[in-house]
Amino acid sequence: MNNCIFCKIINKEIPSKIVYEDDKVIAFHDVNPAAPIHILVIPKKHIETLLDVSEEDSNLIAYIFQIINKIAKQEGFAEKGFRVIANCGEDAGQEVKHIHFHVLAGKKLGDKIVE
Ligand code: 5GP
Ligand code: ZN
Repeated sequence: MNNCIFCKIINKEIPSKIVYEDDKVIAFHDVNPAAPIHILVIPKKHIETLLDVSEEDSNLIAYIFQIINKIAKQEGFAEKGFRVIANCGEDAGQEVKHIHFHVLAGKKLGDKIVE
């Protein structure tokens, strides 16, 4: 947990462009955007992968989607649409071991979710 980049972003040890923050969730622009709008939405609780999500996290995960909804309206891409992606493990290419939801928007996204 100490060396987690996203925990460092939460603790403001690493700067980021924050678009939303409360006591449970933080959302910030991805440093290497894959679309005109690429926001990462993460819980402040350090959960390594989607496989580590437990029953006690159910409310938190549902809450994250409420926040994604709020951000979509706040940032002005709710009407045009957006895509949410969460990578888990090696085959999905999960780089940061702190669960995160990629929110992609700002252009017509490809028909294929994966190449
Ligand atoms: P993953 O491949 O784990 O699903 O996605 C990790 C994402 O985190 C990548 O899109 C990467 O660009 C982003 N990322 C990695 N380090 C940083 C950072 O220090 N700041 C920000 N804002 N994004 C980061
Ligand atoms: Zn973390």
